[in-house]
Amino acid sequence: MVTRATLTFEERAGVVLLEGGFITQEQLEDAKTASVLESSSLLDALVSHGMVNQEILVTVLSYQLRIPVVDLRHVDVDVDAVALVPEDYARQHKVMPLGFDTDGSLRIATLMPNDFQLSSELSSVTGRQTKFVMAIGGKLEDLINRIYTSAPVHAANAAAAAGEGGGPERMAPAMAMGESIFLGQNLSNLPAMQAVDMVTWQAVKSNASDIHMVPSHDSAKVLFRLDGQLHQMVELPLSLHESMVSRIKVEAGMDISEDRRPQDGGFSLKFGERRVEFRVASIGTSWGEMMVIRVLDQSNGLLSLESLGMETGNLKTWRSLLKLPYGMLMVSGPTGSGKTTTLYASVAELITSRGNIMSVEDPIEYRMNGVNQIQVNRAAGIDFPSGLRSIMRLDPDIILVGEIRDTETATTAVNAALTGHLVLASIHSNDAASSIVRLLDLGVEPFLAATGVIGCLAQRLVRQVCPQCSVSTKATVSEAIAYEQEMQEQAPEFTSGPGCNFCNGSGFVGRSGVFEVLSVDETIRRQISQRASGPEVRETALGNGMVPMRRAGMQMAQNGKTTLSEVFRSVFFID
Ligand SMILES: [Zn+2]
Repeated sequence: MVTRATLTFEERAGVVLLEGGFITQEQLEDAKTASVLESSSLLDALVSHGMVNQEILVTVLSYQLRIPVVDLRHVDVDVDAVALVPEDYARQHKVMPLGFDTDGSLRIATLMPNDFQLSSELSSVTGRQTKFVMAIGGKLEDLINRIYTSAPVHAANAAAAAGEGGGPERMAPAMAMGESIFLGQNLSNLPAMQAVDMVTWQAVKSNASDIHMVPSHDSAKVLFRLDGQLHQMVELPLSLHESMVSRIKVEAGMDISEDRRPQDGGFSLKFGERRVEFRVASIGTSWGEMMVIRVLDQSNGLLSLESLGMETGNLKTWRSLLKLPYGMLMVSGPTGSGKTTTLYASVAELITSRGNIMSVEDPIEYRMNGVNQIQVNRAAGIDFPSGLRSIMRLDPDIILVGEIRDTETATTAVNAALTGHLVLASIHSNDAASSIVRLLDLGVEPFLAATGVIGCLAQRLVRQVCPQCSVSTKATVSEAIAYEQEMQEQAPEFTSGPGCNFCNGSGFVGRSGVFEVLSVDETIRRQISQRASGPEVRETALGNGMVPMRRAGMQMAQNGKTTLSEVFRSVFFID
């Protein structure tokens, strides 16, 4: 006999479902195991494993246990409610404030709607009566993370935003359109320095890769690049924009008296234990000075090759190339395609075993223990060619070249590869085969490139379908035709996300790489030395079993990781 008093709310719900004959004892046990393995809630596990459908679950919970249920994916979140519960508290107790009832009480989503102690504690924290509702349809922690960190209209507890000292803990009113409300504070009322701190810290918290500060005729905008897309975060009065820009230029060691000429600089900030570096570029536009700040967060840690989304075949080929004692490996793709991350993840595998690793980069995006990194600094006379030349005098075993875009760097890098060094470099080209052609276009002798280059990797990034709201969808007619042409099979059902609270309505969360890896063999070597074209080399590589990026992307869409339109958007190129 179970003692009801010790049951959690979820277990009680499980018992109700069991007693009502909706599930069997065995299913309940299986769901418990699954919920532990998947670190999901018991109720979500019951639904996701098809043991009970969502409607029955909601009916049982609301009628039998008299608990209202909310679907986290689609519930409206009221920023005024969020403002009442501090972020740390919400995280710690896994409670998500949602809104207000007509009697003014605060509606809060939880997995423990029968925890009366928590309920009364929340009442004293918020000064409101609290009403718990049962959260289903996704992980509560994920929604708390998203609401408190990503959307500018949310995230009311601005304490952390004020930087090192903790700062004033002001609670937030809701955001009104056209006002400079950010994280619940009116930026126009803040000194420029504090406004800069808030914006930079928010960018770090939401994993933005860049901050754009763009003036227009009567106001200015702050935009964040999140998962590759620009999102407007807040609109500012021009005067605040100007003082923030000046403030950043001081921090970044730039000339504040100059506001037309392009400038660049950098600064770093400490958020608690976390040190984040920012690379700043500015230029005068007709409306005033525009600024783009690259966020280089050191605390995210190095990614492994697996976590980039490389599938087994490519991973095996790339790793076998990395094991070779010398030669040149090139990584290609447009700006923002994740080349640097791939290079870092590749070098990380070599740190312990391969002696002196040196790099020349612009910028150094991640400081790696065990790699001697040199930052390009044109003012100090260090550019890619001169940086690489000096590295060669320092007896390196492995050399990482941030980017090859001039003849001297290209030639020096190939020579290094021919004289016993493993060289990893990024280069601008459409696909793996054409990076070799690019090298020849830069003036490297074909017979040198043929012996020097051992492999090429090309990549793009595609957004991943939000797991919370993904549904099965049919391809459009044109997508299906393209799919069938490439894959030689009928287009199956794909998945896409219509958008929910977990993905800010975009249908996507996070990104994954799509890769093609070309290993240079005897035939390709001969082709390079005879100046064969990109398509000719590509043809040989495909014959050797290279899976082209476009096909790899479609396989990802087929597996439900991304959408076909996302593959077409980022992977398509003209042959
Ligand atoms: Zn979603």
